[in-house]
Amino acid sequence: MNLLPQEIIRRKRDGLALSSHELAEFFQGFLRGEVADYQMGAMLMAVTLRGMVPQETSDLTKIMRDSGRQLSWPYPRHQIVDKHSTGGIGDKTSLIILPLVLCEGVKVPMMAGRGLGHTGGTLDKLEAVGWTVYLTEEQIAAQMATLGGCIMGQTEQVVPLDRKLYAMRDVTATVESIPLIVGSILSKKLAEGIGGLVLDVKHGTGAFMATRDAAYELAQQLATVGRSCGLSVHCTLSDMNSPLGTHAGNALEVAECCEVLSGRGPEDTTELSIHLAAEMVRLAMPSRDGDEIRAKLRGHLLDGTAWRKFLQVAEAQNGDLDLLQDPKRLYKAPVKKAVVVSGGPFVSTIDTRQLGLAVLALGGGRRLVNDRINPWVGLTGLKRVGARLDRDEPVAIVHAADESTAAVAVNMVGQAYKLGEQATAHVFIEDIT
Ligand code: URA
Repeated sequence: MNLLPQEIIRRKRDGLALSSHELAEFFQGFLRGEVADYQMGAMLMAVTLRGMVPQETSDLTKIMRDSGRQLSWPYPRHQIVDKHSTGGIGDKTSLIILPLVLCEGVKVPMMAGRGLGHTGGTLDKLEAVGWTVYLTEEQIAAQMATLGGCIMGQTEQVVPLDRKLYAMRDVTATVESIPLIVGSILSKKLAEGIGGLVLDVKHGTGAFMATRDAAYELAQQLATVGRSCGLSVHCTLSDMNSPLGTHAGNALEVAECCEVLSGRGPEDTTELSIHLAAEMVRLAMPSRDGDEIRAKLRGHLLDGTAWRKFLQVAEAQNGDLDLLQDPKRLYKAPVKKAVVVSGGPFVSTIDTRQLGLAVLALGGGRRLVNDRINPWVGLTGLKRVGARLDRDEPVAIVHAADESTAAVAVNMVGQAYKLGEQATAHVFIEDIT
């Protein structure tokens, strides 16, 4: 390294903007082992306290993208798109969006993640139904050619700098820094070789961003930096003051997806999936009209086209077709308990994060990255804020491996729901760019 790491840290500590050369020296030096962990810890804290200007975030994102392998395609770049959701409880839209968008002839090399803490992960849901999530580059290319896309895990070779930085952010109280979040999310998406990205930034009691203002700020920075890195970007804000859909927990969420893909799913999951999928199609085919695309996608759910496409992708990735075609068999947890709450006819508020923590307490999530999960446990029949309940109608059903974890989860879910005389209105979907 030509520059002293402590001099670069000092400049960021004093609130100065770092040049692309300084950022490259420091962050690439870290990957090579020339910058110590304690120096990176200090830098991450300086970035968290001082922030970054958009140019710095953009430079850091590109350094992260270039730290590992990148996919490249023999297709026009604008026709290759993906989406990213900042995550929440019951957020299962990826499994629905992929086949919907493929039905329109758009290419989607979707890289998904695992759950950690109170939110679930797409890869865990797919593995609950036997899906092979780690594909070779040859398999990815073959599936892109035959079906148009896949859902897969990120290999060790893709953005290795993010993996190393994320582990450090986790233990240095710097996970919340917006420039670091933006670099982390966008570097991985850019490494897929896509031309367009739809962002679903969630806000509310179950989201990473608690308030709409914080979500708006993150969405704006993701859009600005994404565009500066050559992506077409669309941002949607969506409400996470209620769980998405009726099911939370890995196999149970797959069961809900089977319902949505057969045109019978809950309205909120269906609407958000159609909305995000339509924006992906619009990025790939900008001359098309949004209403026309949404109507077409709804048709794909109702006439079986999306369901057939989902089964083709599942078959290509070794998913258990017998299980998917008989989703009742996904409700395997032996203990089921209803959660009944008193207080009024309406659901007035939900501490949605508590619902995610209840799934974790049931064994359906991870506290540490290497924890094993029970794919069958979780919650069904979840009510949204504003729902009107009949007397003694449950707000949710707990699916547990045994009586003792069921009792813990029933208590947590009961505490999370507050009933009252009034229904609160939340804007569910809001486009901001
Ligand atoms: N998702 C990511 O991939 N990285 C972050 O830092 C936050 C959310």
